[in-house]
Amino acid sequence: MEKIIVIGANQTGLVSAWKLGEAGFDVTVYEAKSKDQVAYDWYDDIDPLVFGEIGLPMPDKSMYFNKKLWTFVNPSESVKVFVQGGAQANDISIERRPLNDFLLSYAEKVAKVNYGVKVDELIISEDSIKGVIVRGEKIFADLVVDTSGVYSKFRTSLPESFKMDNVTSDEVFVAFRGFFERVEGEVDYTNKAYLKHQGQKGISWAITTDEDVDILIGRVGKLPKEQIDDALASLKKDNPALGEKLVKCGYVASIPVRYPSTMMVANGYVTVGDSAYMTIPMMGSGVVAGMIAATYLAEVLTAKRDFSKENLWNYQVKFYEKFGGYVGVDVLKRWLLACPAKDVDFLFEKRILCQETLSGGLDGSKMKLPLKLLLRMVWNGKSRLGVLLGLAAVMGKMDKAKAAAYRIPKTFDEKAIAEWRSGIEKLFE
Ligand SMILES: Cc1cc2nc3c(=O)[nH]c(=O)nc-3n(C[C@H](O)[C@H](O)[C@H](O)COP(=O)(O)OP(=O)(O)OC[C@H]3O[C@@H](n4cnc5c(N)ncnc54)[C@H](O)[C@@H]3O)c2cc1C
Repeated sequence: MEKIIVIGANQTGLVSAWKLGEAGFDVTVYEAKSKDQVAYDWYDDIDPLVFGEIGLPMPDKSMYFNKKLWTFVNPSESVKVFVQGGAQANDISIERRPLNDFLLSYAEKVAKVNYGVKVDELIISEDSIKGVIVRGEKIFADLVVDTSGVYSKFRTSLPESFKMDNVTSDEVFVAFRGFFERVEGEVDYTNKAYLKHQGQKGISWAITTDEDVDILIGRVGKLPKEQIDDALASLKKDNPALGEKLVKCGYVASIPVRYPSTMMVANGYVTVGDSAYMTIPMMGSGVVAGMIAATYLAEVLTAKRDFSKENLWNYQVKFYEKFGGYVGVDVLKRWLLACPAKDVDFLFEKRILCQETLSGGLDGSKMKLPLKLLLRMVWNGKSRLGVLLGLAAVMGKMDKAKAAAYRIPKTFDEKAIAEWRSGIEKLFE
C-alpha cells in the first residue's frame, strides 16, 4: 500500500489524514505538540457549510454558537459600518480544540496519529521528496503532506530548483488574541473590526459576548509589547465593556495574509493549509480553505494514485478554481494598508466604503458598485479625486487579479506555469 506522511495535526493535517486514509493509503501523522496543546484555546469563525462539503456531519451544538455580523470602523473611529450579508453572514464561531477532537475521531480510524513527535527534516533526493527524518531515523514514503503552518521549515528547505514561493515578513499578520472580562459599560456594536487601527498597518477587533470581550490586535510583520498595550488602551476607550482582567489566551500567533502559494507541489511533496497560505488575506481566516484543500488532495489521489508533481498539480488547480478570488482580496488588502489613514477615513466618511462595497470586497466574492453608489462616489468623492481614482483602479485590479488566478494552467506545463506565476507576481510588485 502506498505510504503517506502528514506533518502537523491541526485541522488541515487531520482532514488530510482522514481523507487520504479513507482513500486506502497507509497514512502516518506526526505532530510536534502534545495532544492537549495542539491548536489554540479559542474559537474561530467558519462557514458551517464546510462540514457537508467535506462529508462530515455538523459537530455537536455545544461546540459552537452563531456569529454576529461585523461592524467596520475607520482609522479615526469616526464612522462605524454595520455589514449585513456577504459570504461570511452565516459563519459560526467554533471552539478550536473540540473541533480538533471531532476531526481526530475520524482521522484515527484510518491513520496513525502520533503526538509529541517532531519531524526534523525532509529526505530530498534530486528532484523528489522521499520521506522524512524523525529522531534521527529515516522514514520513507511515497508522499509527504506538509501541513506544518505558515513558517514551514520543510518548504523553505527545498532547493531553488523546486521553485517554491516563500512568505515575506510583510505578508504575515502577527496577532495578539486575548479574552478579557466583560464589565459594566455601553456596547454600541458587538463585533467591531478596526481597519488600519490607530493608523497602523493591520487590523484589530473587539467582540463583546455575554461572558467576555474577545480582542485581536494584528499588525503586519511585527507586534512589540508596547504596541499591544497601546492598542488595548485605545480599544478600551471605544469599548467601555472591555475590562482589565485577562480571562483566557493572551498570546501572540502568526497568520499568513497573502495570496495562496503559486507552487504547492513537488514530486512526492505537497503543501496544504497555512503552509500554502490558504487564508483570506484580509481577515486571515484559513480553517475552511485548509480543510477543503485537504479533501481536494484526496480526490486527486483517489482518481490517480500518482505522486508526481504533474498529478499533484491537479490539486492546486482545484484549489485555485475555488479560491482564486483570494488573489483579488490581497490586492485590496495591500492597497488599504498602504493607503494613508486619512484617505481611508475619507472613504468611510463619504460612505464610499460602506455596506455594499465592504461585504463583497473582504472575502473575494465581488466588490460591487451599484449605480446609486457610483453616483454617490462621484458626488461625495469629487473633493478628493485622487483617492477616488485610486479606489476605482484597485477595484479594477482586483477583478484582473481574480481573472489571472482562474487562468491557472490546467496541466503541468512548466512554461505555461512560469508565465501564470509571473503574471500573478507582477500584480504585487
Ligand atoms: C489570532 C488568530 C485568529 C484566527 N482566527 C481565525 C478565524 O476566526 N477563522 C479562521 O478560519 N481562521 C482563523 N485563523 C487562522 C487559522 O488559525 C489558520 O488558518 C489555521 O489554523 C491553519 O491550520 P493548519 O492546520 O493549516 O496550520 P497550523 O494551524 O499552523 O498547524 C500546523 C501544525 O503543524 C505542527 N508542526 C509544525 N512543525 C512541525 C514539525 N516539525 N513536526 C511535526 N509537527 C509540526 C504544529 O505544531 C501545528 O500543530 C486565525 C489565526 C490566528 C493566529
